[in-house]
Amino acid sequence: EYEIQLEAAKRFIVEHDDFLVVAHVQPDGDAAGSTFAVGWMLRQLGKTYTLINEGRMPEKFMFMAGDQPIMNGMANTPDRTFSSIISVDCADHERIGAVRAFFGEHALLLNIDHHATNDRFGQVNLVREDAAATVEVLFDLAVHMNLTLEHSLNVCIYSGLLTDTGGFRYANTTPKVMQTAAEMLRLGVKGHELAERLLEKMTVPQISLIKQSLSTLSFAYNQKLAWVSVTLEDAARFGAAGEDMDGLVNYPRNVEGVEVGMLFKERENGQVKISFRSAGSVDVARFAKTMGGGGHVRAAGCTVSGKLGEVIERVVKEMGQALG
Ligand code: 5GP
Ligand code: MN
Ligand code: MN
Repeated sequence: EYEIQLEAAKRFIVEHDDFLVVAHVQPDGDAAGSTFAVGWMLRQLGKTYTLINEGRMPEKFMFMAGDQPIMNGMANTPDRTFSSIISVDCADHERIGAVRAFFGEHALLLNIDHHATNDRFGQVNLVREDAAATVEVLFDLAVHMNLTLEHSLNVCIYSGLLTDTGGFRYANTTPKVMQTAAEMLRLGVKGHELAERLLEKMTVPQISLIKQSLSTLSFAYNQKLAWVSVTLEDAARFGAAGEDMDGLVNYPRNVEGVEVGMLFKERENGQVKISFRSAGSVDVARFAKTMGGGGHVRAAGCTVSGKLGEVIERVVKEMGQALG
């Protein structure tokens, strides 16, 4: 089955050209690594392509880009539509965001992903649910297509594995992940430099937000539930960008005895973005899906409407029920 998907993905790429490559809104390390990795793969094949995201690609991921430009879909938009799309790390069509405006009417889409909640929204779907990261699927595809594992591609693959496994620590860190990462190191990727760049370095707004959000740390249900929150005012006060909030959810999650850690981020237009992290007893992907989101058993998210305080109260109560 997976071999058939790999072959179909290969055919899609070989038979088309002028691709639009897009990952999910507010890209993380795997989304960014996958976008640039697909770029390197297409360049090797002599294809033309445009990389894009709904918003700005965080500066900290731009080292993977090399000389490949990536369009900020909200700032410098393409002046035309595309008929061949490759989406990466998107569980559903919604996750592509506003970039969908640049899909032609009869556009064909290749959906490359690893989320268990992926709904196979592409005309061609390459989805391996037991892959730790989308870059792991791209590694399979590169091997299947006999591509050269060149340095720029390998850096993207390693970076996506590193970030989506939380530094090779989460439950998705399989022997295969370690083997692929080891292969990247053998080919010359500097793992320690990428770990420092992607996992350890913090911006000043980022650590200021950690300080602030820890003052909101709250518990419920026998301390099985813990959460922190960030208001728009906090984010503005510290000049924080979206990526400066990455990792905040780990603080409630990491507390001894906590089954589910949550982060509530106030957004513009009366929206609240919620991140869920589970110790394992609650399937947070299923929970997030009931709120229009998705993700993985232990890491999921969604965006809901409502005032921050009211959303927190409602979601805490519903999660309390899910705790059983
Ligand atoms: P995070 O909480 O770090 O934003 O996301 C955790 C996981 O849940 C990621 O795998 C991400 O792809 C998924 N996720 C987060 N928000 C959403 C959402 O709104 N919809 C879907 N389908 N998945 C989400
Ligand atoms: Mn992602
Ligand atoms: Mn991913």
